[in-house]
Amino acid sequence: MTTALAATPELAAEADARFSAIADPVEQALAALRWAGETFGDRFAITSSMADGLLAHLASRAIPGVHVIFLDTGYHFAETIGTRDWITSVLPITLVNVTAPQTVGEQDLSFGPKLHDRDPDLCCEMRKVKPLAQTLAGYTAWGSGVRRDESPTRADTRLVDWDAKRGMVKVNPIAAWTQADVDAYVTEHQVPVNPLFEMGYGSIGCAPCTRPVAPGEDPRAGRWAGSTKTECGLHT
Ligand code: SF4
Repeated sequence: MTTALAATPELAAEADARFSAIADPVEQALAALRWAGETFGDRFAITSSMADGLLAHLASRAIPGVHVIFLDTGYHFAETIGTRDWITSVLPITLVNVTAPQTVGEQDLSFGPKLHDRDPDLCCEMRKVKPLAQTLAGYTAWGSGVRRDESPTRADTRLVDWDAKRGMVKVNPIAAWTQADVDAYVTEHQVPVNPLFEMGYGSIGCAPCTRPVAPGEDPRAGRWAGSTKTECGLHT
Protein backbone atom coordinates (compact mmCIF):
# COMPACT_ATOMS: atom_id res chain seq x y z
CA MET A 1 0.00 0.00 0.00
CA THR A 2 1.30 3.46 -0.92
CA THR A 3 1.55 6.00 1.87
CA ALA A 4 -0.69 8.88 0.86
CA LEU A 5 0.62 12.44 1.00
CA ALA A 6 -1.51 15.13 2.57
CA ALA A 7 -3.55 17.10 0.05
CA THR A 8 -2.82 20.84 -0.04
CA PRO A 9 -3.64 23.71 -2.42
CA GLU A 10 0.09 24.14 -3.07
CA LEU A 11 0.48 20.49 -4.07
CA ALA A 12 -2.44 20.86 -6.50
CA ALA A 13 -1.11 24.09 -8.00
CA GLU A 14 2.37 22.65 -8.55
CA ALA A 15 0.97 19.55 -10.23
CA ASP A 16 -1.39 21.62 -12.36
CA ALA A 17 1.47 23.76 -13.68
CA ARG A 18 3.68 20.73 -14.29
CA PHE A 19 1.18 18.60 -16.18
CA SER A 20 -0.54 21.46 -18.03
CA ALA A 21 2.77 21.96 -19.85
CA ILE A 22 2.38 18.57 -21.56
CA ALA A 23 0.93 19.26 -25.01
CA ASP A 24 -0.37 15.82 -25.98
CA PRO A 25 -3.81 15.35 -24.38
CA VAL A 26 -3.42 11.61 -23.78
CA GLU A 27 0.06 11.96 -22.28
CA GLN A 28 -1.16 14.88 -20.17
CA ALA A 29 -4.07 12.86 -18.77
CA LEU A 30 -1.96 9.78 -18.10
CA ALA A 31 0.78 11.83 -16.40
CA ALA A 32 -1.73 13.52 -14.10
CA LEU A 33 -3.35 10.19 -13.24
CA ARG A 34 -0.02 8.43 -12.62
CA TRP A 35 0.95 11.26 -10.30
CA ALA A 36 -2.34 10.94 -8.43
CA GLY A 37 -1.83 7.21 -8.03
CA GLU A 38 1.77 7.57 -6.87
CA THR A 39 0.98 10.49 -4.56
CA PHE A 40 -2.23 9.31 -2.94
CA GLY A 41 -2.20 5.54 -3.44
CA ASP A 42 -5.53 3.93 -2.61
CA ARG A 43 -6.72 7.25 -1.21
CA PHE A 44 -7.38 8.34 -4.83
CA ALA A 45 -10.56 7.47 -6.74
CA ILE A 46 -12.24 8.67 -9.90
CA THR A 47 -15.94 9.20 -10.44
CA SER A 48 -17.83 8.11 -13.53
CA SER A 49 -21.36 8.79 -14.75
CA MET A 50 -20.99 5.75 -17.00
CA ALA A 51 -21.70 7.86 -20.07
CA ASP A 52 -18.59 6.16 -21.38
CA GLY A 53 -15.52 4.35 -20.13
CA LEU A 54 -13.01 6.96 -21.27
CA LEU A 55 -11.83 8.18 -17.88
CA ALA A 56 -11.96 4.68 -16.42
CA HIS A 57 -9.87 3.43 -19.35
CA LEU A 58 -7.24 6.15 -18.88
CA ALA A 59 -7.20 5.74 -15.10
CA SER A 60 -6.87 1.97 -15.27
CA ARG A 61 -3.88 2.35 -17.62
CA ALA A 62 -2.21 4.68 -15.15
CA ILE A 63 -3.43 2.98 -11.95
CA PRO A 64 -4.52 -0.65 -12.45
CA GLY A 65 -7.31 -1.48 -10.03
CA VAL A 66 -8.23 2.19 -9.57
CA HIS A 67 -11.40 2.81 -7.59
CA VAL A 68 -14.23 4.07 -9.82
CA ILE A 69 -17.14 5.65 -7.94
CA PHE A 70 -20.56 5.43 -9.58
CA LEU A 71 -23.55 7.20 -8.03
CA ASP A 72 -26.31 4.67 -8.45
CA THR A 73 -29.22 7.07 -7.92
CA GLY A 74 -31.95 4.55 -8.64
CA TYR A 75 -33.10 6.73 -11.53
CA HIS A 76 -30.60 5.66 -14.19
CA PHE A 77 -31.47 4.45 -17.67
CA ALA A 78 -31.10 0.69 -18.12
CA GLU A 79 -28.47 1.53 -20.76
CA THR A 80 -26.38 3.33 -18.14
CA ILE A 81 -26.48 0.39 -15.74
CA GLY A 82 -25.52 -1.85 -18.66
CA THR A 83 -22.61 0.44 -19.53
CA ARG A 84 -21.46 0.33 -15.89
CA ASP A 85 -21.45 -3.46 -15.96
CA TRP A 86 -19.75 -3.51 -19.37
CA ILE A 87 -16.96 -1.19 -18.19
CA THR A 88 -16.51 -3.14 -14.97
CA SER A 89 -16.21 -6.41 -16.86
CA VAL A 90 -13.61 -5.27 -19.43
CA LEU A 91 -11.37 -2.84 -17.53
CA PRO A 92 -9.07 -3.47 -14.54
CA ILE A 93 -10.97 -1.23 -12.16
CA THR A 94 -12.57 -1.58 -8.73
CA LEU A 95 -16.18 -0.43 -8.92
CA VAL A 96 -17.46 1.53 -5.92
CA ASN A 97 -21.23 1.52 -6.45
CA VAL A 98 -22.77 4.18 -4.21
CA THR A 99 -26.49 4.24 -3.42
CA ALA A 100 -28.58 6.83 -1.56
CA PRO A 101 -29.78 6.09 2.00
CA GLN A 102 -33.36 5.85 0.74
CA THR A 103 -34.56 3.82 -2.23
CA VAL A 104 -36.63 5.71 -4.78
CA GLY A 105 -39.75 4.12 -3.26
CA GLU A 106 -38.81 5.24 0.25
CA GLN A 107 -38.09 8.74 -1.01
CA ASP A 108 -41.50 8.84 -2.72
CA LEU A 109 -43.14 7.90 0.59
CA SER A 110 -41.19 10.54 2.51
CA PHE A 111 -41.31 13.42 0.02
CA GLY A 112 -44.02 12.46 -2.46
CA PRO A 113 -43.51 11.08 -5.97
CA LYS A 114 -41.44 12.81 -8.65
CA LEU A 115 -39.43 14.99 -6.29
CA HIS A 116 -37.10 15.49 -9.27
CA ASP A 117 -39.84 17.54 -10.97
CA ARG A 118 -40.72 19.62 -7.91
CA ASP A 119 -37.37 20.13 -6.20
CA PRO A 120 -34.50 18.72 -8.27
CA ASP A 121 -31.89 20.38 -6.05
CA LEU A 122 -33.17 18.45 -3.01
CA CYS A 123 -33.40 15.24 -5.02
CA CYS A 124 -29.80 15.67 -6.27
CA GLU A 125 -28.66 16.57 -2.77
CA MET A 126 -30.06 13.33 -1.33
CA ARG A 127 -29.23 10.98 -4.19
CA LYS A 128 -25.93 12.40 -5.45
CA VAL A 129 -24.26 15.17 -3.47
CA LYS A 130 -24.47 13.71 0.05
CA PRO A 131 -23.68 10.11 -0.97
CA LEU A 132 -20.65 11.34 -2.90
CA ALA A 133 -19.50 13.48 0.01
CA GLN A 134 -19.76 10.54 2.39
CA THR A 135 -17.88 8.28 -0.02
CA LEU A 136 -15.14 10.82 -0.75
CA ALA A 137 -14.55 11.22 2.98
CA GLY A 138 -12.60 7.97 2.67
CA TYR A 139 -10.24 9.47 0.08
CA THR A 140 -7.65 12.25 -0.10
CA ALA A 141 -7.97 13.09 -3.79
CA TRP A 142 -10.52 12.42 -6.50
CA GLY A 143 -10.79 12.62 -10.26
CA SER A 144 -13.60 13.45 -12.65
CA GLY A 145 -14.17 13.52 -16.40
CA VAL A 146 -15.21 17.19 -16.52
CA ARG A 147 -14.09 18.99 -19.71
CA ARG A 148 -13.79 22.71 -20.37
CA ASP A 149 -15.60 22.50 -23.69
CA GLU A 150 -18.71 20.90 -22.19
CA SER A 151 -20.37 24.11 -21.00
CA PRO A 152 -19.60 27.72 -19.97
CA THR A 153 -19.84 26.64 -16.30
CA ARG A 154 -16.91 24.27 -16.87
CA ALA A 155 -14.73 26.55 -19.02
CA ASP A 156 -12.27 27.33 -16.20
CA THR A 157 -11.74 23.72 -15.08
CA ARG A 158 -8.13 23.09 -14.03
CA LEU A 159 -6.24 19.91 -14.79
CA VAL A 160 -5.31 19.57 -11.12
CA ASP A 161 -7.30 21.73 -8.75
CA TRP A 162 -7.89 22.30 -5.07
CA ASP A 163 -11.41 21.27 -4.05
CA ALA A 164 -11.80 23.74 -1.20
CA LYS A 165 -15.31 22.55 -0.35
CA ARG A 166 -14.05 19.06 0.43
CA GLY A 167 -10.43 19.83 1.35
CA MET A 168 -9.20 17.46 -1.35
CA VAL A 169 -7.09 17.55 -4.49
CA LYS A 170 -9.27 17.17 -7.56
CA VAL A 171 -7.79 15.85 -10.78
CA ASN A 172 -9.62 16.50 -14.05
CA PRO A 173 -7.42 14.50 -16.46
CA ILE A 174 -9.39 15.34 -19.60
CA ALA A 175 -10.16 18.98 -18.73
CA ALA A 176 -8.39 20.22 -21.86
CA TRP A 177 -9.74 17.56 -24.22
CA THR A 178 -12.00 18.43 -27.13
CA GLN A 179 -14.82 16.25 -28.38
CA ALA A 180 -12.50 15.29 -31.26
CA ASP A 181 -9.89 14.10 -28.75
CA VAL A 182 -12.54 12.02 -27.00
CA ASP A 183 -13.83 10.51 -30.23
CA ALA A 184 -10.31 9.62 -31.40
CA TYR A 185 -9.40 7.90 -28.12
CA VAL A 186 -12.68 6.01 -27.90
CA THR A 187 -12.28 4.72 -31.45
CA GLU A 188 -8.61 3.79 -31.09
CA HIS A 189 -9.11 1.92 -27.80
CA GLN A 190 -12.65 0.64 -28.42
CA VAL A 191 -13.81 2.22 -25.19
CA PRO A 192 -17.34 1.25 -24.05
CA VAL A 193 -19.82 4.04 -24.77
CA ASN A 194 -23.37 4.34 -23.46
CA PRO A 195 -25.73 3.42 -26.35
CA LEU A 196 -27.94 6.41 -25.45
CA PHE A 197 -25.56 8.62 -27.44
CA GLU A 198 -26.69 6.74 -30.55
CA MET A 199 -30.28 7.72 -29.64
CA GLY A 200 -29.64 11.46 -29.62
CA TYR A 201 -28.62 12.08 -26.03
CA GLY A 202 -25.74 14.54 -25.68
CA SER A 203 -25.07 14.14 -21.96
CA ILE A 204 -26.24 11.28 -19.77
CA GLY A 205 -27.84 11.75 -16.37
CA CYS A 206 -30.85 10.33 -14.52
CA ALA A 207 -33.70 9.27 -16.80
CA PRO A 208 -36.36 11.72 -15.46
CA CYS A 209 -34.00 14.69 -15.89
CA THR A 210 -32.39 13.91 -19.25
CA ARG A 211 -33.75 14.27 -22.77
CA PRO A 212 -32.17 13.90 -26.20
CA VAL A 213 -30.81 17.05 -27.87
CA ALA A 214 -31.34 18.32 -31.39
CA PRO A 215 -28.43 18.29 -33.86
CA GLY A 216 -26.17 21.26 -33.10
CA GLU A 217 -27.75 21.88 -29.71
CA ASP A 218 -25.55 22.23 -26.60
CA PRO A 219 -24.92 18.62 -25.48
CA ARG A 220 -25.88 19.50 -21.89
CA ALA A 221 -29.11 21.25 -22.96
CA GLY A 222 -30.92 17.96 -22.37
CA ARG A 223 -30.09 17.98 -18.65
CA TRP A 224 -32.87 19.42 -16.45
CA ALA A 225 -34.39 20.88 -19.62
CA GLY A 226 -37.02 23.52 -18.92
CA SER A 227 -35.46 24.55 -15.61
CA THR A 228 -32.59 26.88 -14.69
CA LYS A 229 -30.66 24.00 -13.12
CA THR A 230 -27.49 23.14 -15.07
CA GLU A 231 -25.37 21.19 -12.58
CA CYS A 232 -26.16 18.55 -9.99
CA GLY A 233 -23.77 20.13 -7.50
CA LEU A 234 -20.99 17.54 -7.68
CA HIS A 235 -18.54 19.77 -9.52
CA THR A 236 -19.54 23.19 -8.21
S1 SF4 B 1 -30.66 14.16 -11.74
FE1 SF4 B 1 -32.88 14.21 -11.35
S2 SF4 B 1 -33.49 12.15 -10.66
FE2 SF4 B 1 -31.22 12.31 -10.55
S3 SF4 B 1 -30.81 12.86 -8.45
FE3 SF4 B 1 -30.90 14.80 -9.60
S4 SF4 B 1 -33.07 15.50 -9.55
FE4 SF4 B 1 -32.99 13.33 -8.82
